[in-house]
Amino acid sequence: MPGLPLVGAQLSAAGGLTNVPDRVAATGAEAVQIFNSNPRMWRSYAYSEDEISAMTSALSDAGVPLFMHSIYLINLSSPDPTLRTRSAEALSQALVLGAKTQAVGVVTHIGSHKGAGFEAAAEWIVAGVGDAQRQAEETLQAAVPLPRLLLENSPGSGSLVGGTLEELARLIAVLPATCGICLDTAHLFAAGIPAHTAEGLEEMVLHLQELDLLSALGLVHLNDSKTPFASGRDRHDNPGEGLIGSDGLSRVVRHPAFRMVPFILEVPGADGHGPDALNVRGVQAMRAASLSRPAPPARPASRQEV
Ligand SMILES: [Zn+2]
Repeated sequence: MPGLPLVGAQLSAAGGLTNVPDRVAATGAEAVQIFNSNPRMWRSYAYSEDEISAMTSALSDAGVPLFMHSIYLINLSSPDPTLRTRSAEALSQALVLGAKTQAVGVVTHIGSHKGAGFEAAAEWIVAGVGDAQRQAEETLQAAVPLPRLLLENSPGSGSLVGGTLEELARLIAVLPATCGICLDTAHLFAAGIPAHTAEGLEEMVLHLQELDLLSALGLVHLNDSKTPFASGRDRHDNPGEGLIGSDGLSRVVRHPAFRMVPFILEVPGADGHGPDALNVRGVQAMRAASLSRPAPPARPASRQEV
């Protein structure tokens, strides 16, 4: 019987990795996601082994799983081979830090094919992921296993890859078994997948089952949306303050299909500096509310059980 899902947050590693456990404690996050380096810069940080082990042991003592998010500049789907090479290198750096910090998963955006089409992009993605994993293994020299690589669904506009569950399934089918997916509720909403309604959520879960994607699911990004349904535009809002709303997000948090994966908030927070204790507690309350629903009447024990 799976317990309740963990509710955590994307938190800043500014000032060094050793600050992360304090920020985890301050927000009440039960899982944490950090960027492996500044998401808008190619140059990656070099963290000392000391700070890596300090953060890792503090998080492990607290029982808080870590997820790493790769930089935004990565485009594994690009028709430009130079950009693909750079993207694979950047992804390998996220995998290396993820391995050293014992991250459960490394999340990456899949990128945009810029009109080249999904078929071409799928080949580039498979090659890029292979290169990134090989480079990371060479760097680590088999000292530690690579974390699972999670491809995130996109808001679906233009030539962004991964805006439909079908595209995610087709990628997972041809990628190594070490790959999975991360679903972002704001991206689902922007891409026109109606998981914010009770009926739409059930349909999506069935669809995930049919496509064999539930077992590939490693993480949910639980974000509300400032931009309208099917707008193709990606702007996250605090849970309950956006167009998805509390009811829509609560149904996702309480759904048994997602009970095995952590939820990570990537939201502006009250002050625009990212998820805060209020956001995290708010979603933990949504989750707890599922316990306060009346339990179904207990079935009488059968003879065999007596
Ligand atoms: Zn996300």
